[in-house]
Amino acid sequence: MALISDESLERVKQTADIVEVISAHTDLRRQGTRWVGLCPFHEERTPSFSVDAQEKLYHCFGCGVGGDTIKFVEEKEGLGFAEAVELLAERYGVELEREQEDPRAEARRQQRRRLGELLNRTAIFYASYLWDAEEAAKARQYLLERGLSEEVLRGFGVG
Ligand code: ZN
Repeated sequence: MALISDESLERVKQTADIVEVISAHTDLRRQGTRWVGLCPFHEERTPSFSVDAQEKLYHCFGCGVGGDTIKFVEEKEGLGFAEAVELLAERYGVELEREQEDPRAEARRQQRRRLGELLNRTAIFYASYLWDAEEAAKARQYLLERGLSEEVLRGFGVG
């Protein structure tokens, strides 16, 4: 499945109004820079649920839940991460860009693999050629005289 791009995700986080989203589930009252209310995740009589509109985060000092706007929608609507993002994007008019697995990156990977194989085969081919060619006899002799065993030469694909 295509992934939601990081930029789209960031735009959803910036655009979605966390106070508005949470207000649909509990009444929030402004208290300085924060908003407080009864926790929508557990039964309580005195508010211990707090929303930071600036940081766009919520936290309950009673039951310990907390997170950002997306997390709230996930938890409260019982949605997966992508679904929660989609819901918020639709609600706040954010167009989601999807990232396909980049086909060019995959092509480059395959090309590198093929090139690696090709180089390997080329090396073996030339090594065999060297081994077989009459002109190579001297070179082979030279290498053997310098202490390179036949096994080592074979190890290089020579022979
Ligand atoms: Zn709570």
